[in-house]
Amino acid sequence: MNIILLGPPGAGKGTQARLLVEERKMVQLSTGDMLRDAQKSGTEMGKRVAEVMARGDLVTDEIVIGLIEEQLTTSSGKGFIFDGFPRTLAQADALEALLTKVGKSLSAVIEMRVDDEALVERITARSTCASCGEVYNDNTKPIPEDGKCSNCGATEFKRRADDNEDSLKTRLMEYYKKTSPLIGYYYAKGKLRPVDGMGSLAEVRHEIEIQLN
Ligand code: AMP
Repeated sequence: MNIILLGPPGAGKGTQARLLVEERKMVQLSTGDMLRDAQKSGTEMGKRVAEVMARGDLVTDEIVIGLIEEQLTTSSGKGFIFDGFPRTLAQADALEALLTKVGKSLSAVIEMRVDDEALVERITARSTCASCGEVYNDNTKPIPEDGKCSNCGATEFKRRADDNEDSLKTRLMEYYKKTSPLIGYYYAKGKLRPVDGMGSLAEVRHEIEIQLN
C-alpha cells in the first residue's frame, strides 16, 4: 500500500506518518526531512534550498522529484507514505510516472483537514525532540517537566527555523495556491480520502485506519 498524506503545514502529516511507520512498518518519505538533512550535511543542494525553505517558499520541482526518485529506487518496506510530497501538479504527475516505473501504484490520498487558526497555533507552539522527532506543543503537549522526551528520554529539543508566523504565512499561501489543487486532482482520480484532522492524535489515527481498510 502506497499513500500520500496531503494537508497544509501543521495538519499533522509528520506525526501520523510516524505512527503508520511504527504500526504498519511502512516507509515514510518526507521531502521536508530530506531537504533539512541536505541542509545539515552542507551539500551544494542543501545550501541552495536553505533560504527558500526559511522564507516558506517551495523548493523547485526538479530537486524534490530527484530526491523522491532516489528513495523510491533504493528503499523497501511495506509501502510508502509520501509526507509533504507531492506539493504541485507537476510533482503529482512525476510521482505517478515514477511509481509506474518501479512497478507500484498509489492506493489512497489521505487529505487531512484542519482549520487555519489551528494551524497557526500548532506551528508557532511546536517543538520536537532532537533525537527521535517526537512532536510537542507548548499549550497542548508541553515538554515533560523533567526535561526528558516522553518517547526516548533524550533531553534536547528543537524548533524549526520556518515555524514562525512570517514563514507560516508564505507556507500557507503556497499551500493554497500550488498544493490545494491536488485535492481536486486526486478526487477526480478516485483516490481522495478526507479525514478530520482536528481530533486527538488517536482519533485522527483511527480515522486514517478506517480509510485505509
Ligand atoms: P515540510 O517539512 O513538509 O513542512 O517542508 C518544509 C519546507 O521544505 C517547505 O516549506 C518547502 O520549502 C520545502 N519542501 C518540502 N517538501 C517540498 C515539496 N514537495 N516541494 C517543494 N518544496 C518542498
